[in-house]
Amino acid sequence: VFVDQICDVNSRIVLNEKEAHHLFDVLRIQKKEIVRVVGANQRVYLAHPCNKPYLEIFSEIEVLNEKKDITLCVSLIKQDKFEWMLQKACELNVTRIVPFESRYSVVHIDSQKVEKKMNRWSQILLSSCKQCNRNDLVELCNIQKIENLHEFQSECNLVAYEKENQSKHISKFLKNNPKSITICIGPEGGFDEAEIDILNDDHFQCVSLGKSILRAETASLYCLAAIDYQRAL
Ligand code: SAM
Repeated sequence: VFVDQICDVNSRIVLNEKEAHHLFDVLRIQKKEIVRVVGANQRVYLAHPCNKPYLEIFSEIEVLNEKKDITLCVSLIKQDKFEWMLQKACELNVTRIVPFESRYSVVHIDSQKVEKKMNRWSQILLSSCKQCNRNDLVELCNIQKIENLHEFQSECNLVAYEKENQSKHISKFLKNNPKSITICIGPEGGFDEAEIDILNDDHFQCVSLGKSILRAETASLYCLAAIDYQRAL
């Protein structure tokens, strides 16, 4: 479970209603079982279940934190594809996701529906973080305009552009293992040339992901997998 409180060994913590319901009523956790708890300080503990909604922390797990900081700026795409991409990006160690509007995106979310969408996306990310045993929650940023993506820049700032020469394959930009990376992925209809100009002016480097034209959700995961592979070398 993920809790938004600082935990201490040999202390009792109380779960919020949603987490307590999931653990005690849905999963029907037994007293003899052990629960993995990720605290607000991103430290990981082991706990015994007490009476709902309490857990008794009995030890802390040593976590090696050699993770990269990876920001995925991804244009809004069709809901089912976007939600699938959220789940897979979480499994592929993305740190934060920055949805953005772009000219050729087929999806535009009415302002009064944004909060409901963000809650749904946060829930998908939380479930996926639990499923893949992450020690941290993926950060979901508010929907941005393309002009604001420079606010999410890192040590290495890339934009995936299928018209870029294949000699500028993303792998070339990952070779020196940058500690933090920001990568931008366009929508189903691709980036508008003017949008590429904005990103280039903001020092995002165009990179190729190879000769195939990938779907946006595939391109997102291709980048995350390339980063993860480079890190593992
Ligand atoms: N303009 C494309 C077309 O002609 O079909 C559609 C864009 S593609 C479906 C969605 C996004 O994935 C692109 O905006 C780009 O960010 C990324 N992408 C897909 N294939 C790529 C490639 N081979 N190299 C670099 N980026 C790619």
